[in-house]
Amino acid sequence: MLPILSFVLPVYNERDNVKNILREIETFHREKMAGHFDLEVLFVDDGSTDGSVQVLKALAEQHDYVRVVIFSRNFGHQAAVSAGYRYARGTAIVGMDSDMQHPVATVEEMITRWQEGYDVVYAIRDSSQAGLFKSLCSRAFYKIFNLLSQTDILPGGADFRLVSRKVVDALNGLPERCRFIRGLIPWLGFSSTKVTYTPRPRASGEPKYSFFKSLGLGITALTSFSIAPLRASLVLGALFMLISIVYISYSIVSWFLGGTLIRGWMSIMALIVLTQGMTLLVFGIQAEYLAKIVMETKRRPEYVVCEVIGQADADAAESVSDIGPEEISGPGGEMPGSSGGASG
Ligand code: UDP
Ligand code: MG
Repeated sequence: MLPILSFVLPVYNERDNVKNILREIETFHREKMAGHFDLEVLFVDDGSTDGSVQVLKALAEQHDYVRVVIFSRNFGHQAAVSAGYRYARGTAIVGMDSDMQHPVATVEEMITRWQEGYDVVYAIRDSSQAGLFKSLCSRAFYKIFNLLSQTDILPGGADFRLVSRKVVDALNGLPERCRFIRGLIPWLGFSSTKVTYTPRPRASGEPKYSFFKSLGLGITALTSFSIAPLRASLVLGALFMLISIVYISYSIVSWFLGGTLIRGWMSIMALIVLTQGMTLLVFGIQAEYLAKIVMETKRRPEYVVCEVIGQADADAAESVSDIGPEEISGPGGEMPGSSGGASG
């Protein structure tokens, strides 16, 4: 029996793309990998409403290597990727988008790297198809994330990567529900390397990430991997207390010396507004962490599966009952920002 090469593809309203990406994967496997690997293509439908599910079901009927995990509603990109890793059976698992932006040809080099002994092979884009604003935000995010957290993520990494079975097992074993997979994989460790690729334009359909969805994912990422913002609130609070002590001391001295305190009215008002703003900001930061704790303590699953189609459903069901329902479904689905997840 040959080792299995799994492709994991999240799908959210990609009716016109899934057939084409499957054809590309199938051709790649036939031309480059046949005789070395058996193929598994696992689509995770994340609550599509455009008929993608019907197309996926038809594909699963035509090809025995196609499997489909169908969510009960839209749970977000990260949840779909999580489920993909949970259900994939491969020795090597390639995660990629289903909108044709990630070229399947790059996978050949990724497999070579994995065969050289690397457990994680990141595919890093060498250019961006995103607009200037999105690219700038993405770059800023990676800078801030790498500065504030002790886990470094490669900019331009998105969710196009190959991971070994070892890594997937370790990832599936993590207890947290609110997952930022792009950060969790480097956090796990293991030997890693990268290859580069040139992203193609999205073949059809709309990008699924609004600015606010991406921002939500960014906040989830930062609050999952860094407590630096909480420390920053402490430092800011201390700084403003110090400033106010200096200011009060100055006012008292000036009063004793007969100075006209009324002149300082504007500066006091400015300070009040500023400190109120800072206080609210600090509360806001704390609320983000608190919200995360609330969602984690509820222990709601990250996603709910309503149907699994394709060969070896029994295998999945078995592994599911091994782990128990809480584990299968993973982290807090309604976590603010958990449905975000731009690959940018
Ligand atoms: N996606 C998903 N759930 C969502 C949003 C997106 O499964 O809520 C999938 C989408 O179908 C695609 C991948 O995640 O396969 C990346 O999404 P998109 O191409 O919209 O992101 P972008 O490339 O614009 O960052
Ligand atoms: Mg895309």
